[in-house]
Amino acid sequence: MDNVQAACDNCGKELIAGAAYCERCGARTRRARRLVRLAIRVELVFFLAVVAMVAAFVWVYAFQK
Ligand SMILES: [Zn+2]
Repeated sequence: MDNVQAACDNCGKELIAGAAYCERCGARTRRARRLVRLAIRVELVFFLAVVAMVAAFVWVYAFQK
């Protein structure tokens, strides 16, 4: 599933295998962009988990009187 990207999408320069950035123009490769999206998603899930935990504590506290 990991389609190898041979050249930079931005400037067309050949990429080193597994590179995250183009060495000429600095553009992110597709693989790096996908990893960034994945990292953002993981962070979002973590953030929502924290929010849910705080909300649960508030809820428990409010109903303990
Ligand atoms: Zn480039």
